[in-house]
Amino acid sequence: MNDFNDNILNTKIMYLPGAGQKRAELLYGELEIATFRDLLYYFPFRYIDRTHFCAVRDINPDLPYVQLYGEIVSARTEGQGGGKKRLVMRFSDGTGTIDLVFFQGLAWIKEKIKPDRKYTVFGKPALFNGQVNMVHPEIDIPEAENPGAFSTNINGIYSSTEKLRSYMGNKVFVKLMFNLLNLVQNKIHETLPGYLLNKYRLLTLPEALLNIHFPQSQELLVRARNRLKFDELFYIQLGILYRRATVAGATRGLVFDRVGDRFNYFFEHNLPFSLTEAQKRVIREMRRDMGSGKQMNRLLQGDVGSGKTLVALMIMLIAADNGYQSCIMAPTEILAAQHYASVVQFLKEMDVKVSLLTGSTRKSERTVIYSKLAEGTTDILIGTHALIEDNVQFKKLGLAVIDEQHRFGVEQRAKLWNKSETMPHVLVMTATPIPRTLAMTVYGDLDVSIIDELPPGRKPVKTLLFNDSKRLRVFGFLKEQIEQGRQIYIVYPLIKESETMDYKFLEDGYESIVRAFPPPEYVTAVVHGKMKAVDKDFSMNLFASGKADIMIATSVIEVGVNVPNASVMVIESAERFGLAQLHQLRGRVGRGADQSYCLMMSGYKLSKESRKRLELMVSTCDGFKIAEEDMKMRGPGDIEGTQQSGLPFKLRITDLSKDGELLEAVRKIVESILLEDPALCRDENKILKSTLENADAQKDFSKIS
Ligand code: ADP
Ligand code: MG
Repeated sequence: MNDFNDNILNTKIMYLPGAGQKRAELLYGELEIATFRDLLYYFPFRYIDRTHFCAVRDINPDLPYVQLYGEIVSARTEGQGGGKKRLVMRFSDGTGTIDLVFFQGLAWIKEKIKPDRKYTVFGKPALFNGQVNMVHPEIDIPEAENPGAFSTNINGIYSSTEKLRSYMGNKVFVKLMFNLLNLVQNKIHETLPGYLLNKYRLLTLPEALLNIHFPQSQELLVRARNRLKFDELFYIQLGILYRRATVAGATRGLVFDRVGDRFNYFFEHNLPFSLTEAQKRVIREMRRDMGSGKQMNRLLQGDVGSGKTLVALMIMLIAADNGYQSCIMAPTEILAAQHYASVVQFLKEMDVKVSLLTGSTRKSERTVIYSKLAEGTTDILIGTHALIEDNVQFKKLGLAVIDEQHRFGVEQRAKLWNKSETMPHVLVMTATPIPRTLAMTVYGDLDVSIIDELPPGRKPVKTLLFNDSKRLRVFGFLKEQIEQGRQIYIVYPLIKESETMDYKFLEDGYESIVRAFPPPEYVTAVVHGKMKAVDKDFSMNLFASGKADIMIATSVIEVGVNVPNASVMVIESAERFGLAQLHQLRGRVGRGADQSYCLMMSGYKLSKESRKRLELMVSTCDGFKIAEEDMKMRGPGDIEGTQQSGLPFKLRITDLSKDGELLEAVRKIVESILLEDPALCRDENKILKSTLENADAQKDFSKIS
């Protein structure tokens, strides 16, 4: 059945007529297009519909992107050099005129775009000095060369990179696609069984691929997109659910069926407050998993401050009661140390052995920790990446907890569970709430538990937005808070492109803060990413112990730090932070009983998007709501938290922020197929199994090629 090796789609792009070595290299280097298949599945990101144009006289600045057809009637250069220079082209379609404005690539545009020729212009109308214009619209340069038989009125535009564009324009893309389809159209194998095609009125795969590149009509384009989205979602879900039913389902898990002395003692004597209903529910869910004989693979989502650490601790006690060791891995030393301190505090006077292992643990100490782990005398090991080093050998690892999951790559996690013969139970915890549709896809192989309730008595953090002119007022407010005994965070953006810049922000900030809050009356501590671990610890401790009033930091404090007396979070240049990050930062305050504040400082001029983001922060403290909005605003590929771990696959056509309904529907279809035919061995389902296997083979193939 496996047609993988002789499939023409695995041919290298170099052998495609019209491609050649140079283009092939660029296509691979810039877009990772290596084979015929890669190119075939590289879809246009938009289309020019030559039948739909907007008349210039109907344009107004509230319209989204529009397409115009007409000519350039005049061109002039305005302004001086130094970034101010611009090219203004007046465009007319006979119904009116509009200015097209360019700031970059002036020479090139002047050279390419001439009067007395018709152009298709695509752009967003905007209002400037009371006039409607278009800044940097795309201009389609008509070409004599006709792509041939597939040509239609709807033309695909392929996204490219600057480098690639200078070697080959969209026309070349179209031409290559044309040559490709000519070659392979009759050799594309269907991937879905006939009964699904019929039932859901789907185009066949060859029809869909033809129409996604060369739509024969708007209707066929819609159906092509639908079919390809269906395919994409279907095989992601099938992959997850089929594997879960066969492989994961067969993975035997350690049975933790005892709730013994330590858990009970802790519950009765050491637990300083009562658990929230949500905490109780998720603990029950995990106990059920761990007692079932199957290996637990669970994601615990809960907003910052919802009490995930305590939940983790309680199930680690269950592991201990069943004679197993556990570990908890945190993304930073600061956080690992804090977990260690709070776990030790929680377990006061109990017979549970806890150790801390991080990059800065001394060698002599390490040796002791290693041997105690191997002997089995350590019950709970807390640490950072240091836990996955080869020297770390457990006697009986039964449970691995990973905190703030998105900071760790999949491979790092896998290393952790390879540390014992029987796969330990795994709990992954994250404070970055992920919308349901995304969770179903990204974490499809994990069961999800959600803590949707904060411990009682927490007041929502009051969030306010200020621009720089209000700085004095803000400082005055900070002084009042410090007088009342509160502590304050001031966070500066981390600028990844330039670490020196990043540091400068913080340095300038530090100077102005110390001027406004002079010692010895006020004590200010600093933490940033470039400090040595000991210095960081020193500063953190200064703040955590209440000796410092103000903590100045880059976003290193983002993750998990817990100082309940800190009641104000000032975020400088807040517009430079993403929503998820802002939400995380805000979560650092509001942990004690006092009213807390998050003050977002911003520049005067904010882009529309930045303003929307900051206003959303002001309007809600609900992390799930913020995550949903974030996904809508930016698309799922950019959601913080998934970017770092990377989606386990590439979505070519589906947009999880818009295709949630289709995803849910497809998921149900997959579930019902697997319910009736779990091994996919019925004749009509064989195609599903072989496509799935081929997809795996392709993954391996693309790794080696
Ligand atoms: P996160 O979910 O962000 O990791 P933590 O586990 O750090 O949250 O908990 C935040 C704070 O809330 C800690 O000081 C913790 O001791 C406290 N806490 C946890 N559960 C409860 C509860 N049920 N009632 C009151 N306080 C709680
Ligand atoms: Mg935490």
